[in-house]
Amino acid sequence: MAETVKTHYPAPRARIQAMKEYHPPLGCRDALRLDFNENTLACSPKVREVLGRISAGSLTRYPEREPVEAIVAAHLGLAAAQVALTNGVDEAIHVLFEAFLEDGDELLLPVPTYTMYEVYASATDARVVAVLAADDLQFPFDRLLAAITPRTKIIAIANPNSPSGSAATCAQLVEIATRAPHAVLLVDEAYFHFHGETVIDQISVVPNLIVARTFSKAYGLAGLRLGLLAGPVELMRWVRRVLSPYSVNSLALACLPPALEDAAYLDWYVAEVLAARAEFEAALDAAGVRRWPSRANFVLIEIGPRHAEFVRLMGVAGVLVRDRSSDPGCDGRIRITIGTREQMRQAASALNESLAAIKTKGGAQ
Ligand code: PMP
Repeated sequence: MAETVKTHYPAPRARIQAMKEYHPPLGCRDALRLDFNENTLACSPKVREVLGRISAGSLTRYPEREPVEAIVAAHLGLAAAQVALTNGVDEAIHVLFEAFLEDGDELLLPVPTYTMYEVYASATDARVVAVLAADDLQFPFDRLLAAITPRTKIIAIANPNSPSGSAATCAQLVEIATRAPHAVLLVDEAYFHFHGETVIDQISVVPNLIVARTFSKAYGLAGLRLGLLAGPVELMRWVRRVLSPYSVNSLALACLPPALEDAAYLDWYVAEVLAARAEFEAALDAAGVRRWPSRANFVLIEIGPRHAEFVRLMGVAGVLVRDRSSDPGCDGRIRITIGTREQMRQAASALNESLAAIKTKGGAQ
């Protein structure tokens, strides 16, 4: 019998071996997508037009991000050197953490929050310091301040936060930056358009503030992967050292100017979502479902021990929602993206049916 030959594969860094696998639950999403906080409809028709005109010849060139960075910077009232476009905010987080976090550093995070901060931090030698929000899931301002140490290197705050939908005030954010001058304060404004408050105007005065924005949510361009970091030139130059010069592809770059120009589309979509959120919240209240107040295009609700069954039943009814039970302090809680009023009426009726079904089953036990 042939002897089995043992193959030894090269091992990655110890940190990578210890990383948890992260697989977003995508796949079979041909239903009402209320699970990833995307735009649930479409991007601006002006973007669609530009995409349709892209020539085969133009795809032979490497993408040039600088001219588009200048347009985006002007749109935000910033200098071009203060803005870096990225392959979604996920790349922005990755690059920022690679640039700043090393052994002995602490990443300070209010939790529950966006999963990718911990994922990317776990690839570095820094330690994550998590500050758990109280049951109301409001921003834990005082406890976060108390958790700042000389080792704090980055403080990452999603504002509004996910999955809670709660927000810190601009004054609180500036206070945090001031109290941790040795750390970078990352304010992730992925859901800015639904909230309307920003600290981006503070970039020129707060030397350790970096703001992230995405085009995946209100703009409806999640598939193109477009995000940005905006911050003081002295910090952005380190970010640019790590950032791949071609990580934002030429289709995404071509689509950005028309997306920015079509303010009417963006305003319409945001107003539609806010109207739908108010209606859906009223439907939740009528159904007696506990919910957390939201400043974003989603709402977190309490379902309790039958959360997995609820998510399954919603799926059967054609509505995808996201179980956040494994997030810190979120057992039994489900996050539902807000789409248009019509879509949310469908979601509300699926919710009422699913609730009735889990109650009946619960009673039969
Ligand atoms: N930040 C937050 C707070 C998010 O919720 C998300 C998406 N779910 C992202 C960033 C990722 O954005 P992008 O698609 O630009 O990578």
